[in-house]
Amino acid sequence: MAAQRIEGKPLAAAVKQRVALEVEQLKQRGIRPCLAVILVGEDPASQVYVAGKERDCAQCGMESRLYRLPADITQAALLELLAQLAADREVHGILVQLPLPAQIDEQTVIAAIPPEKDVDGFTPVNLGRMLIGQPCFVPCTPAGCLEMIASTGVSLDGKHAVVVGRSNIVGKPAAVLLLQRNATVTVCHSRTKDLADHCRRADVLVAAVGKAGFITGDMVKPGAVVIDVGINRGADGKLCGDVDFAAASEKASFITPVPGGVGLMTRAMLMENTLRAAKLLHGIE
Ligand code: NDP
Repeated sequence: MAAQRIEGKPLAAAVKQRVALEVEQLKQRGIRPCLAVILVGEDPASQVYVAGKERDCAQCGMESRLYRLPADITQAALLELLAQLAADREVHGILVQLPLPAQIDEQTVIAAIPPEKDVDGFTPVNLGRMLIGQPCFVPCTPAGCLEMIASTGVSLDGKHAVVVGRSNIVGKPAAVLLLQRNATVTVCHSRTKDLADHCRRADVLVAAVGKAGFITGDMVKPGAVVIDVGINRGADGKLCGDVDFAAASEKASFITPVPGGVGLMTRAMLMENTLRAAKLLHGIE
């Protein structure tokens, strides 16, 4: 039997609706959550992502401020802007759209975001807190993956989860979150031997590689939950994930589509984090 699709659209809409309701309540107390987005250069994919974030803010009744900076901006100038936004009481969330141009050190810039405004959850403080299970901002993509798994009703307790990819923003935090939900976690990467064998043992398979069709049908355990994080262009020029969707659907119990899956939930999680930042900064909760 073909797998059930875990659709991002209704799940994301429900999250955004909940956020919008709370934003409305905050406005009645004179607080309007505000997300500042910094976009450096003209990367086409980044422009699309940033436009999506602006739309989401508008839908949720939040303010968004977009700071467009030229590709040749110095690191010092970017850090200066971050210092201003850090001090601005009306800005609750700060997001620096990645990737950044080569003259700028990504980790230095990320570390300059105050942890309480770090709605992407990328600062060392938030990632560290997540690792030891303290309250923090969780990176949006892994948070979205976990929500999608939860929506299936499949418990992670004692299950074998395999994450393919170990980036700081997707793979590693996804592995930590799965571990926190009592899954037994294997993390695969470019040096992993017998990767297909690991995948075949996964009750839950999270693919975050960045290669179209990387996960083939024979790598999916019958009945597995498959979460496809990848955003790639296939040979036909169309958007696709890391998983061979048609083949994997024949084996999986649940599977996320691309487009229409994790990407939408990632955006919704950003709205949730920004709402939370606004509440925390105003001492609510
Ligand atoms: P990175 O390029 O930072 O990481 C890719 C990971 O895949 C690395 O850990 C790398 O291993 C591993 N990898 C690459 N090639 C292989 C291989 N042949 N075998 C095994 N492992 C391999 O990417 P991100 O984590 O940032 O993103 C992954 C994908 O998810 C991309 O397609 C990206 O566009 C997408 N994405 C989607 C989001 C969404 O909202 N849906 C949000 C963020 C990303 P190693 O560490 O050894 O190099």
